[in-house]
Amino acid sequence: MIKLYNTLTRKKQIFKPIKAKNAGMYTCGPTVYWHAHLGNLRTFIFEDILRRSLKYNGYKINQVMNITDIDDKIIKKAGAENKPISVVTKLYTKFFLNDIKKLNIEKAEAYPKATTHIKEMVAMIKILLQKKIAYKGEDGSIYFNISKFKNYGKLSGLKNREIKIGARIAADEYKKEDAQDFVLWKSKRPDEPSWPAPFGPGRPGWHIECSAMSKKYLGKTFDIHAGGVDLIFPHHENEIAQSEAANAKKFANYWIHGEHLLINNDKMSKSLKNIFTLRDIEEKGFNPLSYRYLVLTAHYRSKLNFTWESLQASQNALNNLSEFLKTKTDKHQKTNENKNIKIYEKKFLEAVNDDLNTPKAIALVWQIIKDNKLSNAAKKQLILNFDKVLGLNLNKIKPAKIQKIPLKIKQMADERELLRRNKQFIPADLLRKKIEQLGYTIEDTNYGHKITPARN
Ligand SMILES: [Zn+2]
Repeated sequence: MIKLYNTLTRKKQIFKPIKAKNAGMYTCGPTVYWHAHLGNLRTFIFEDILRRSLKYNGYKINQVMNITDIDDKIIKKAGAENKPISVVTKLYTKFFLNDIKKLNIEKAEAYPKATTHIKEMVAMIKILLQKKIAYKGEDGSIYFNISKFKNYGKLSGLKNREIKIGARIAADEYKKEDAQDFVLWKSKRPDEPSWPAPFGPGRPGWHIECSAMSKKYLGKTFDIHAGGVDLIFPHHENEIAQSEAANAKKFANYWIHGEHLLINNDKMSKSLKNIFTLRDIEEKGFNPLSYRYLVLTAHYRSKLNFTWESLQASQNALNNLSEFLKTKTDKHQKTNENKNIKIYEKKFLEAVNDDLNTPKAIALVWQIIKDNKLSNAAKKQLILNFDKVLGLNLNKIKPAKIQKIPLKIKQMADERELLRRNKQFIPADLLRKKIEQLGYTIEDTNYGHKITPARN
C-alpha cells in the first residue's frame, strides 16, 4: 500500500490504480534546445524514484515522457546557430538520454516526440472547436476559452483573479479574446515550420502536446501525472482543461509534483550564472550519481539547496558506501539475523510507501551499516535490495577521484581574490598569470573563484 501526496486533493492518498497492479504514468519531458539543468534533473530523478517505488510494490509501469521538439525557444536557437531545427533537437535529445542514463534513471516505456504527433493534436483541437470551447483569434491562431471550462483552476487552486494575473505574466504575443485564454495552435508565420490543419496551417502550442500524447499512449483517464511544481500553473491546469473538455472524462487521478532546486539558496537564473548541468558536475570530477544521492537526501516535496560542498559530502557518502560493499563478506550468521533483516525490510518499505520518503530510506542504509546485530553478508544483501528503489547503482559504482587542487594554488587564488577586492587589479592579474603557468585556470563566478586544472 503506497501513499502519495496528490496535488489535486492536497492530501496524501493510498494509490489505487485503474487496472490492478498496473500504473500508467505521464511525466512532462524536456524541451530539447539545451542541456537539462540540475533543477530539471532533480524532477527526473524524483519521477524515477516514483517509478521504482511502484515497481518495488509489484506494479507494472507504463511511463510516457514527451520530447518537445518544436517550440519558440528551439526555433530561436536553430536560427541563431543557422542549423535546421531537427539537427538541434536530435543533438539535445541525445544529450538528455545520456544524462538520464548517467543518473541511472530507468527508461520510460515511450518517448513520443511532438512533431510526430501533430495528427493527434489536430484531432483534439478539432473536437474543442466543434464543442465551441476553442475559437479562432484575429490572427488565425486557435485559443482555448477558459470561461467555458468551469473547473479551470482546480489543480492550482488559483482563484479567477489570480489566474488573470498569472496569465498576463505568461501572456505571449498571440492575440486572444481574454487574457486568460491560452493558445492551442499558432497560425503559420513566415520562416517558421508549420503543418497543415483543417483550421489553417500552423504549429501546436506546448500544452496540447501533452494532452494529445497522453491520450494516445495511456488513454483518456490514467493513473499518475507528474512533473515539477513550476508546471502546475499554467501547464498542468491547461492540460486538464483541454483533455477533460475534449474527452468528457477525468484526466489523471493522481498529480504528483516535485519541489524546486535552489543553488546556494538562490533561484536558478541566467543573471546569477548558477544554471549548472551534469557536465559541470562531471568536469569537477564528481560521479553523476553523487548528484542523485544528494537529491535523495531531501524529500521530493521540500526545496533542496545545492552547493558544491553538499555535492562533495554526497560524493564522500557514495564512496563510503561503495567501499563498504567491497569489504570481505563474513559468512557467520548472527543470532536472530533473519528477524532483524525483516525489521529493516519493513522499515524501508514503510519509508518508501509513505510518499517516497527517501531521506528516511537513506538514513536506514547507514543504520544498517552500523548495526552489529547483522553480519556483513546480511547488510550487503539488504542495501543492494534497497538500491532497486534508490538507484545508486551500488553494485557497480567506482569511487570517483576528485581533482585535488594543491594548497599552494588555493592560497595564491585566495591572495588574488583579496587583491581584487581591494581593487588592486594589476598585481591580481599577475598572480592569475602565475597560477596559469602552474597549470591551473581560474574563473570568477558569483560564488567566488573556481580553480580547475588546465587541459593539456
Ligand atoms: Zn506536459
